[in-house]
Amino acid sequence: MITLKEALNLPKEELAELKKDIAAKAEAKKELNAYIAMDESGEGVPIAIKDNIQVDGWEVTCASKILQGYVAPYDATVITKLRAAGLAPYGRTNMDEFAMGSTTESSYYGKTLNPHDPNRVPGGSSGGSAAAVAAGIAIAALGSDTGGSIRQPAAFCGIVGMKPTYGRVSRYGLAAYGSSLDQIGPMTQNVEDAAILYNIIAGFDPKDSTSAQKEHTPITPDPDRKLTIGIVPNYIKDASAAVQKAYDKAIAALKAAGHEIVEVELMDAKYDIAAYYITAMAEASTNLSRYDGVRYGRRVEAGGLKDMYRATRSEGFGEEVKRRILLGTFVLSSGYYDAYYIKAQRARHVIKEEYAKVFEKVDLILSPVAPDVAYEFGAMKTPLEMYLSDVYTIGVNLAGLPAISLPVDEHNGLPVGLQFIGKAFDEQTVFDGASSLERAVKG
Ligand code: GLN
Repeated sequence: MITLKEALNLPKEELAELKKDIAAKAEAKKELNAYIAMDESGEGVPIAIKDNIQVDGWEVTCASKILQGYVAPYDATVITKLRAAGLAPYGRTNMDEFAMGSTTESSYYGKTLNPHDPNRVPGGSSGGSAAAVAAGIAIAALGSDTGGSIRQPAAFCGIVGMKPTYGRVSRYGLAAYGSSLDQIGPMTQNVEDAAILYNIIAGFDPKDSTSAQKEHTPITPDPDRKLTIGIVPNYIKDASAAVQKAYDKAIAALKAAGHEIVEVELMDAKYDIAAYYITAMAEASTNLSRYDGVRYGRRVEAGGLKDMYRATRSEGFGEEVKRRILLGTFVLSSGYYDAYYIKAQRARHVIKEEYAKVFEKVDLILSPVAPDVAYEFGAMKTPLEMYLSDVYTIGVNLAGLPAISLPVDEHNGLPVGLQFIGKAFDEQTVFDGASSLERAVKG
């Protein structure tokens, strides 16, 4: 597939051809189930969009039954920005229901397959976006990352996925999951394309009260800049041999490229898991209360109002979403609020401070993205097992930091990705490091 950079230079007539070509390829790879629906009518370079971002006139469903039939009445700010830059939303991609998951197995539309091995998950929750780019049926895509949902599927599918600093990209028009954690970001074939797409969608938006009022200078990644990079020995020891091998390979490549490598320590990531899941579920339980059978999507008619709510939500939400609403409501309930929710917020503060301390010494942190390569379908036996597998990605969201995942190695034909984590609002350095590592491992 041609890159985003190349596509942006195509004459208009050739864009129409390109769209037809993508549609034909997507049809041939239908069994991947990467796209939920396609729409060739938009004018511009076609970009795949995760099914939780509002596109005017599209059915947008967060891959949930409860939102079947809901048609978005407006464009998310990122979509407005895409259109202004000569890009067009092209198809909506599969995902875990309401972005809750790490495998894209919980979609109402069925699972997405990993293009590298049909017996394995593409990662999640932005698994459709990652699979589409990896399979050559999307030039680039948008995903959302609440606790790793851009970076982890990118790593599992062998593409680049970038999560911006919290507040850098507008959340206006992104269906909220964990509002204090969610960010939209690019999923692309290479680091340069990620920077191009990031430049288009970043910037202050008065329509999003959590949007940062910061100057955003467009980024051109500089692979020649020499950086101080922190590695985390106490983190990596729990990763699989394949991931450890990729980590060693990356460190050697970075040293050879002239970067300084420094060992740093981060506290046990089990605290990240606890703080993240309490926070994300609490926020999800409030955010999802709006799906009541009145305002959006499906309604199941029943006797009275309360019965209608109950019937609609019982029928419309899948099992994982219900579990999270229940747990989230529990940690916010009086009597448990201090013990769980407030404590999680305290832990979050400590995690943020810890990162800030490490960043006094280093420009970037190199970290695994997931404990292993893409899992086989059904490998996650319990919800808890799935939550624990997010160990390397969720600290970044708790601290609101930017990070990028890129392919570094292969193991039995499966891609292994690693991530760089940067200082808040220092996306430039994140892209610089990534472009250097990309060049070094490509050789
Ligand atoms: N796997 C994590 C979760 O289920 C992250 C999901 C995401 O980033 N949207 O919450």
